[in-house]
Amino acid sequence: MVKDLFINTCICVTMLFIASQILKLTAMGSSIHISKKIITGVMSGILGIILMFFSVRVTPKAIIDLRHLSIIVSSVYLGGTSTFIGGIIIALFRVLYYGISRQSLIVGTITMLATIGSIFIGKFRVPKKLKWILLFFYNTCIFSVSIYFAMERISEVKIILVYYWIGSIISSFIIYYYSQYLYDTHSIIKILKEEATTDFLTGLNNTRSFDIVFNNVTNRAKENQEYLAVLMIDIDFFKKVNDTYGHSSGDLVLKELGEILDNSIGEYDFVARVGGEEFCILLRDCNREKAYYIAEKIRKEVQKHIFRVKNGTKIKITVSIGIAVYPDCCTDTEQLKEIADNQLYIAKHTGRNKVCVQAK
Ligand code: GH3
Ligand code: MG
Ligand code: MG
Repeated sequence: MVKDLFINTCICVTMLFIASQILKLTAMGSSIHISKKIITGVMSGILGIILMFFSVRVTPKAIIDLRHLSIIVSSVYLGGTSTFIGGIIIALFRVLYYGISRQSLIVGTITMLATIGSIFIGKFRVPKKLKWILLFFYNTCIFSVSIYFAMERISEVKIILVYYWIGSIISSFIIYYYSQYLYDTHSIIKILKEEATTDFLTGLNNTRSFDIVFNNVTNRAKENQEYLAVLMIDIDFFKKVNDTYGHSSGDLVLKELGEILDNSIGEYDFVARVGGEEFCILLRDCNREKAYYIAEKIRKEVQKHIFRVKNGTKIKITVSIGIAVYPDCCTDTEQLKEIADNQLYIAKHTGRNKVCVQAK
């Protein structure tokens, strides 16, 4: 029995690992895309079927299996749809594969009851550990009922139930820790990935992701001979905002400006905060005239926008913008940033609150 239990637990561990790779086990419940819900639901069903095949022999006549583990894991991490799909697959397989008999109909019905109850418990807003405990007791109890009905001699039922509960406790405990480990690991990786590419203050892309995207889009522009516009944006006299209203007010201005810039660009364009109060926009397939038009629109939008800072104070700011466009302004995309910076410098030294673009 110990050998069988070990094999069952190893099967669960393997399937959980594969499922976690498909799903990254972080986007839980309703936020999972429907295609992933179906895939993981089918996987949960397959896991249940495999666990049925690798059942544990308790007495020469009686076997138990741990298919309820697949139902528990689904309802904790995957949500109702996947659990339901998995449950239906396990129940149908049980009835169809082993033939329609009193016993298979009882087990099939109990499997569906376990699935529906688990979906219900899975929706409880309680700590995950408690959810696992509730699901463990519900499923182990309900499958104990199925064992009771399926066996003919009460003396045999008692022995099987003792083994079933011991096996269920040990394997549930192991699977709880393993799935929680996978969940935590994927969550941490996701957070670290986001933090590595996102500016913490504005939520825009940071310099790191800007450099990666810049390399990709410049390569594409060169290969396809497409236009690529670079807009360098810098707040005018921002130091004064900090000095007058405080650094935290300056932060609020940066956040709001980030939103304005993000809303000013198309879905294929890219905006990043590349310095303290400097932002950069990449406009794909955008020529010199169009880039100037977009930059002017941004400049005017910022000029008329009322920024709310600390204590509800309303302030106004302006920005200067320098533009470089490939291949209108340069033959090498490597020069784009430098040219845009030079144009920004010219805008700053010829009155600010203006847009300057490199001549053709
Ligand atoms: P100019 O028109 O020439 O750009 O003048 P400026 O005052 O904007 O330029 P300067 O480079 O002298 O000052 C930039 C200021 O931006 C200085 C710095 O305190 C502020 N700053 C940089 N990063 C942050 C930030 O994250 N939050 C806040 N609140 N201020 C920042
Ligand atoms: Mg600056
Ligand atoms: Mg500035």
